[in-house]
Amino acid sequence: MSSIMLEGPENGKGYYGIFSANSKGHSMQQRDVIQTQSGCRFCGAKLQHSLVDLGMSPLCESYVSPEKANQMEAFYPLHVYVCGNCFLAQLQQYVSREEIFNEYAYFSSYSDSWLEHAKRYTDMIVSRLGLNGRSTVMELASNDGYLLQYFVQKKIKAIGVEPAANVAAAAERNGVPTVVKFFGRETAKELVAQFEQVDLLIGNNVLAQVPDLNDFVGGMKTVLKPNGVITMEFPHLMRLMNENQFDTIYHEHFSYFSFIAAEKIFARHGIELFDVEELSTHGGSLRVYGRHKEDNAEPIGNRVIELRRREHDAGFSQIETYRNFGEQVKETKRKLLEFLIGVRRKGKSVVGYGAPGKGNTLLNYCGIRTDFIDYTVDRNPYKQGKFLPGTHIPILHPDKIKETKPDYLFILPWNFKDEIMAQMSGIREWGGKFVVPIPEVTVYP
Ligand SMILES: [Zn+2]
Repeated sequence: MSSIMLEGPENGKGYYGIFSANSKGHSMQQRDVIQTQSGCRFCGAKLQHSLVDLGMSPLCESYVSPEKANQMEAFYPLHVYVCGNCFLAQLQQYVSREEIFNEYAYFSSYSDSWLEHAKRYTDMIVSRLGLNGRSTVMELASNDGYLLQYFVQKKIKAIGVEPAANVAAAAERNGVPTVVKFFGRETAKELVAQFEQVDLLIGNNVLAQVPDLNDFVGGMKTVLKPNGVITMEFPHLMRLMNENQFDTIYHEHFSYFSFIAAEKIFARHGIELFDVEELSTHGGSLRVYGRHKEDNAEPIGNRVIELRRREHDAGFSQIETYRNFGEQVKETKRKLLEFLIGVRRKGKSVVGYGAPGKGNTLLNYCGIRTDFIDYTVDRNPYKQGKFLPGTHIPILHPDKIKETKPDYLFILPWNFKDEIMAQMSGIREWGGKFVVPIPEVTVYP
């Protein structure tokens, strides 16, 4: 057993605690936590507006192995605040990034649709920016090389930066040179010294996971060539709120961005967002395009002007807009429990499909355990035989469904519901139906 210090935000006023941790990190026993209210992760203003309080929850990727099933589990508050000054929605940081990435189970290449997304992006951006054999591309949080492999295939120089050593090793095996580091201003200087500045800097689904946003975005400015382009993808707060996607909130995601908030953060570090696309990935994401503010190659696009106006009209720059979300989430929980209580009282069986992080937020917040869902299944062999964190619902092989013929299949990764309903259409043979929990509980015969 060893003691570790939780790190706090840059201003040194954050959450500090001494935990005793075992070598696997995730199953920590909490001893002493000293909490002080800290400021906004971006602008430092005092955080006093609650967006939604999802109660206490375990880390959503900390799947429980059978030998640990009788041990204590660490739960942390899952309470999102919105800054009244810059409108960045955010969680406090309870767990160090080293802790999260210690034994990271997420390999991007396990998802066929995500690989397809990466390939389409590569073709699009290579042609849009006219990249060729003399260009250099860098991806931050490059995971197992799921994206950069397509640049390597086109003979474009690619460099990955990835903090999780086990996934970085998988990238190297895929032929993608990868530096094992957390990214920030210091790492940026080292990378420029070791390689050179880059033509294209990519960051997909990483910005939300960065504890020190200013250090990260500041570093991006450093590694970008004077006429280089940045593209970043992250889930869109407007979609999260409008479509009730509260289960996409988890401890590993510290920040939730509107376009208006993202624009302010990049602007402070001398990066201008000149284009934006709205994507369907992860329930609705933005892909923003940035460049040095000194680079006037292209005017700010219409899509930027239009989205900025749409968010403004929807009230995303007024604190009142954020006040009702918490109540909307509570009502979603009540409706979902009403449904589950109703079908279980009639003697119907319900099993889960998938074991994604978002499922763990939903099940823990709603208090859904094996009293409602007998088991769930997942294609990822790493998860099979384990239990979901907190709720301890067993994760089994998908073949179990044919064997037990449940009345309802509860789809946890609702963002893939069409794909899953097509793949699992066989449940209709015994009259099985699909249930999707978000935006609110819906049954598909
Ligand atoms: Zn702020």
